[in-house]
Amino acid sequence: MSFFSLGRNKDTASPAFRPDTYAPQSLQTQQPQPQSPPSRSLNQQFADQKRDQKRSSSFRRRLSKPQRLLTGTRGGPLPVVRKGNNNNNNNIDLGTAFSTSPLAMTFGADTSNPASSRLEAAAAAGALAGANTAAAVAEYTSPASSQHQQQGSTLAAAAGTPANSPLAPEVLAARVAERMKTYDAKRINTVKTEAAMAFDYDCIENATDAEKLANQVLLRLKKQDEIAVFQKAGMRTGFGNQKHKAFAGDHFLTNVSLLEDTHVLRAARRAPKGAHLHIHYNACLKPRVLLDLAEKMDRMFITSDLPLVFVGTDDSRTQNFYLCEIQFQITSVQDEKPGNLFDPGYSDRKHMQFREFLRQFPQKEMGMAAMDWLESKLVFSEKETYDIPQTSNGAWERFNGRTRMMKGLFNYETVYRKYTELFLQDLLNDNIQYAEIRPNFMTTNQLWNDDGTAKLDNAGIVKLIIGACEAFKKAHKGVRNFDGIKIIYCTPRSFPNDKVKAALDECILFKQTWPEYIAGFDLVGQESMGKPLRQFVPEFIAFQEECAQLGIKIPFLFHCGETLDMGTDVDGNLIDALLLNSKRIGHGFALPRHPHILQEMKRKNVCVEVCPISNEILGLTPRIGGHAVYSLLAQNVPCTINSDNGTLFQSSLSHDFYQVLVGKSDMGLFGWRQLAEWSLIHSCFSSDSAMADARVRWLEEWRDYVVWLLTTYDAENPETQRVLAEIAQDRRLAARASKL
Ligand SMILES: [Zn+2]
Repeated sequence: MSFFSLGRNKDTASPAFRPDTYAPQSLQTQQPQPQSPPSRSLNQQFADQKRDQKRSSSFRRRLSKPQRLLTGTRGGPLPVVRKGNNNNNNNIDLGTAFSTSPLAMTFGADTSNPASSRLEAAAAAGALAGANTAAAVAEYTSPASSQHQQQGSTLAAAAGTPANSPLAPEVLAARVAERMKTYDAKRINTVKTEAAMAFDYDCIENATDAEKLANQVLLRLKKQDEIAVFQKAGMRTGFGNQKHKAFAGDHFLTNVSLLEDTHVLRAARRAPKGAHLHIHYNACLKPRVLLDLAEKMDRMFITSDLPLVFVGTDDSRTQNFYLCEIQFQITSVQDEKPGNLFDPGYSDRKHMQFREFLRQFPQKEMGMAAMDWLESKLVFSEKETYDIPQTSNGAWERFNGRTRMMKGLFNYETVYRKYTELFLQDLLNDNIQYAEIRPNFMTTNQLWNDDGTAKLDNAGIVKLIIGACEAFKKAHKGVRNFDGIKIIYCTPRSFPNDKVKAALDECILFKQTWPEYIAGFDLVGQESMGKPLRQFVPEFIAFQEECAQLGIKIPFLFHCGETLDMGTDVDGNLIDALLLNSKRIGHGFALPRHPHILQEMKRKNVCVEVCPISNEILGLTPRIGGHAVYSLLAQNVPCTINSDNGTLFQSSLSHDFYQVLVGKSDMGLFGWRQLAEWSLIHSCFSSDSAMADARVRWLEEWRDYVVWLLTTYDAENPETQRVLAEIAQDRRLAARASKL
């Protein structure tokens, strides 16, 4: 076997190293192509392909994806660039970039497979994924099908049966058998066509031997978790004492403690997830982190809108503790209005020192410590989220109260710096390579100094984040694969036009001051309560004109369509996000219900920042299985997975990766790979080369991850042992070659 073919399919090993062959297919974003005539050089072929592609691109655009597949246009002689990956950032020669890495050869994609039919290849890939596809193909190519064929010979006997008379049983059987032949063939074709349209098709088709085995491992782990964790958890009692089995795709907050015992969550944590593109900066660490830091502050005070007293003697006696909205505030000596939250006459959000509050909290009567109670006030619980009368608006009400509670825990200098440092560490711990964070900028949200006597303005906040990030990157240089963070300038959608205009102006100023750190612009807050995007269209267009004049790029990255409603301003935001050329959209839950906007966004390569757990908890779907992401993926819309406000949802990005995997039975390793790759492709990297570099490093991590899955969960399998031995040998040789 050739040294360079290690880790690839045995029967397609290439006799010599070719950079174009060994570049990973999904990085190239091209479909496999048949062998070209040997007389033409690679450069000549490439020039021909570009010319032909230009000629036929308008024709291909007019065809639907299935049509392209069936006419061979997609997989014909031209290297058709996949629509979903075809953005400016992506038209870079990653093949060349990648081929410079010695390890490129270990997991190189097989582009030399001259499959006679792309559809056959798709079905084969589907079978390797262990998917339902495979089962369906097997069912209809089984010996039982050949029985239909044998019976078909008796059909001729039916030819003489008069019209309107009942068919003899053997004639009917013969006719059924004859039609079953056609039916079987059509069904196989349907399965193959659908498999070829799958969002993870490219990853499946170009999988290495190691990835195929690792995918089987991941699908097996899903099943093992069902038995070892969910079945073991026993039955849950529902309405009228009905019993319900626990299962992986059930309510996230119902399962969240069980997930810690699952292999799939462990695998999700270890997976290199690429970029995290939708994360609100005030709610991304565990709530206890901020509470513990607040306890250390001399000038940290707590307030409430209700006195914390017990009412009556029945079950509702603790209702004030549930209904109250707690807030925190760093307060100067001059501004302090002393009060005691446990006094029945307490009112007007008077200040109680936080440490004193912790001392006086009625731990015995509440059955929990003060910190535990405060933590419970910050995060969504199972009961309040899934209780039958709960609504999306009700969940948002709780969400907004929690956001206000977080605000005071977060907006002072010491904690902001510490929080940034911990957040960056958290990215590394969760195997996230890069993030675009969404801090909320407004004049009332400025940072206090630690004694509450002065404030840092928005520029001061950006400087603080950048300073912490630079220090962190320096401290971790060469240790981990990390591209740092960028800032998406966000301001509330509830603001009037002049304030949004001021925010847009400040965003331009920040971009000019820190071009490497400003990723884009967005409006935040509950969409149905704020103003629609179309209210700010003149300001947005003026912003675009000004950016063009100044020669700077600040893409819109709008939240939009985070709703179940149709015909409202909220799903109407999708229209404006499209027309304003939003580079990505946040949530886009309503997008599958707007077929024209969906197709247009797909054509413009707009990526959807999907937030599975957030959408479930805020009432858009009762369980992950009903999430809009699967409709988007079924239509091959580029998506990324995100945590949104993990603090409040008891989640991390790994939890969201877990959810999206268990919500679709046949989704495995290739789904995760495509989602992670899309996250980097649709990031706001400063240059094409920066993105290419990040993607090459991501791929190296991905290879390590595949090896980890195999060594951790499949080491006994002789086939795995063979593949791992080949990879190890390949790496030894590559390391030796790099020293020459
Ligand atoms: Zn959001």
